[in-house]
Amino acid sequence: MIRTHKTTFRTSKIDLERLFACNRVSAQVWNNCLGHDKNHHRQTGRWINLSELQQLTRKKYHLHSQSVQSVQERYIKARTNAWQAKQKGFKNIRYPYREKKHYPARWKKDGFVVHPNGLIELKMCLINGKRQPPIMVRVFNIPKGQIKEIELIWDGKLMLAISYEDGLQPKENNHQGIAAIDMGEIHGIACIADNGRALVITSRKLRSQKRLRNKKYAELQKKLSRCQKGSRRWKKLRRALAKTLQKTERQQRDILHKSSCRFVRWAEANRIGQAVVGNVEGVQRNTKAHRKNPKKKHRSRKVNQKLSQWPFGILLWYLTYKLAAAGIDLIKTDESYTTQTCPVCNRKKKVSGRTFRCYCGYAEHRDIHGAKNILAKYKYGEIKDLGIKITKVTYLRPAS
Ligand SMILES: [Zn+2]
Repeated sequence: MIRTHKTTFRTSKIDLERLFACNRVSAQVWNNCLGHDKNHHRQTGRWINLSELQQLTRKKYHLHSQSVQSVQERYIKARTNAWQAKQKGFKNIRYPYREKKHYPARWKKDGFVVHPNGLIELKMCLINGKRQPPIMVRVFNIPKGQIKEIELIWDGKLMLAISYEDGLQPKENNHQGIAAIDMGEIHGIACIADNGRALVITSRKLRSQKRLRNKKYAELQKKLSRCQKGSRRWKKLRRALAKTLQKTERQQRDILHKSSCRFVRWAEANRIGQAVVGNVEGVQRNTKAHRKNPKKKHRSRKVNQKLSQWPFGILLWYLTYKLAAAGIDLIKTDESYTTQTCPVCNRKKKVSGRTFRCYCGYAEHRDIHGAKNILAKYKYGEIKDLGIKITKVTYLRPAS
């Protein structure tokens, strides 16, 4: 299975400069993709495709040809994704339009050589038929397995993301159990299996971290607004701002990794063969709160997204590949009304508080209630009483 390993590296001062330049050139390629596509659309009424893009940009950049191609492929992919999201009815999705200053450069299979002592050669372009000297970087813990791709990313500093094939086969799994997952803001994962076992992994820590970050962020923003743009103090505060975001993002990823691992272990112990999850693709669940108060200063889209979006997407991605490794299928299903509908009498009701209580006397922990309904929807295509008696609820925290 393909995995990614993020790591620091060492290099010379000159090569470090060249690496920065690679990400700038990548951005240039991206920006040119935008421009070429626009022109092409104006002239022909249709979008540019990959080979047309490649013809227009052959041998124009100081970057390995495969690295250039990689940017173009990512551009086309972003455009296709936006189109697909629009088809699905997400109205505020835009096609790629923003010019970039930096964009992660990637080296594909012919673009790098890995030496056994941890030295990696990142190849550059040909100029007048002569290959430019490669950029040399040293990595201390190269993952074992066949390396597929190396990406130069920015996470507070330049780092390498190494994609590799770990050679591990997914586990054989003939388990018959089905488990449904409800992802929520307070209970990161609430899950019920058809054997009557339930699992709740809280994400309170995640939420408190997010609050702390928001508070810190607001403070810094306030200070920043009093500074002159471009001044030394301004630059300093901007750096601090970026650092806060990066730190909390790291913490968040850590919590989500731990949560997803715990879930997989639980699923294996409970002989689960299929995990069903409510489809929340691309939905920002709680961004509306910001719009309720129009007086509130409008944050930039990027920041808004970082602050308000509960990371369903990331959690889903972690679950996807970790479950796959364990041989458990992950199935997405429609989750509409699963939180609001009573499975006994089918009346709808907004939940307030931690328990879902219906007029008919049905009551259930709100997240387990949601998971139960997702399971019903998957098994029977409708919300109804499953007749499962919950025999055991396991509560876990991702951190401990
Ligand atoms: Zn009811």
